[in-house]
Amino acid sequence: MALGEFQLIDRFFRPLDRPAGVARADVLLGVGDDGALLRVPSGQDLVAVLDTLVQGTHFLPGCAPRSIGHRALAVNLSDLAAMGATPAWALLGLTLPAADEALLQGMAEGLGQLAAEYGVALVGGDTTAGPLALTVQAMGFVPPGQALQRRGARPGDLLCVSGTLGDSAAGLALERGAQGGLVPDPALLQPEQWLRQRFLFPQPRVALGQALRGLATACIDVSDGLAQDAGKLASASGCGLRLDVAQLPLSAALRARVGLAQARHWALTGGEDFELCFALPPTRQDRLLQLADAAGCALQVIGRFEAEPGLRLVEGDQPLAWDATGFEHFTAGD
Ligand code: ADP
Ligand code: MG
Repeated sequence: MALGEFQLIDRFFRPLDRPAGVARADVLLGVGDDGALLRVPSGQDLVAVLDTLVQGTHFLPGCAPRSIGHRALAVNLSDLAAMGATPAWALLGLTLPAADEALLQGMAEGLGQLAAEYGVALVGGDTTAGPLALTVQAMGFVPPGQALQRRGARPGDLLCVSGTLGDSAAGLALERGAQGGLVPDPALLQPEQWLRQRFLFPQPRVALGQALRGLATACIDVSDGLAQDAGKLASASGCGLRLDVAQLPLSAALRARVGLAQARHWALTGGEDFELCFALPPTRQDRLLQLADAAGCALQVIGRFEAEPGLRLVEGDQPLAWDATGFEHFTAGD
């Protein structure tokens, strides 16, 4: 590598241990020693998460470097959000084919900007040569006993989701373009741009996760598609789920670009929306508006937990037959 490993760390990553120039008092020792020395505030539980992005699997070759850096941290902040944690620290394991300065600069900017937004200090990592991949470990705090978990939903609880769903799948399809994706439509430049941003720069629902402490009985972030992730909430909670596709929150951009059927399909199966999906006792339904206000995003009730295991899709009163490849109305004789 033209740029040495240590120069590279010094130049691009060491500055990220002071997000927006502010040193965290709980970082006793950051980048530069054999390990970071960190102090968990007394009376707090530590939540630790880790996610890896591999080129070709999690982002396309040629993807904007800022997006790669942003997403590597965003997916982790989304996991912290789903636990109700306040983000604090991150470590970066970076594997690079070469010391490409434009790539490094862009990734560091993307990661650094999001880190600054949430006051996260990059306290260490590892840098190796090889095919492009980024592993981020993030840590955050939660008051004892208040972490949100996947288990805890009870029959009768409402299934709620933040923001809109399916946008990221459409954004990815647009990024793929002629290679098996959506061919851009010049008449829909603006909605397409917005959908791409939803994929390239997902915003973790950190404020919502914290606001849900003590209110939600279970929570997960939507990374593998709503049907799968809501299903995980239900099975971890030992119950089932009735989900009304008519209530799925769909963006105007998604509806304009692909129409209702495809929008619903992507809302259920498209990954990487990084919205929060949670269970709320019906007695707390009147808190939803206030919660949405505090979290700065829309919240929608899309179903209900039931005692009978399994996922049942309905449209209003009408049951829907559905499998991983799509769904359709039950036809007479089914
Ligand atoms: P060691 O050989 O002891 O594991 P390194 O020489 O790999 O340490 O790293 C030197 C310092 O730089 C360590 O503090 C490490 O945490 C940090 N570091 C290495 N790579 C990165 C990176 N990509 N981002 C942030 N910090 C890094
Ligand atoms: Mg060492």
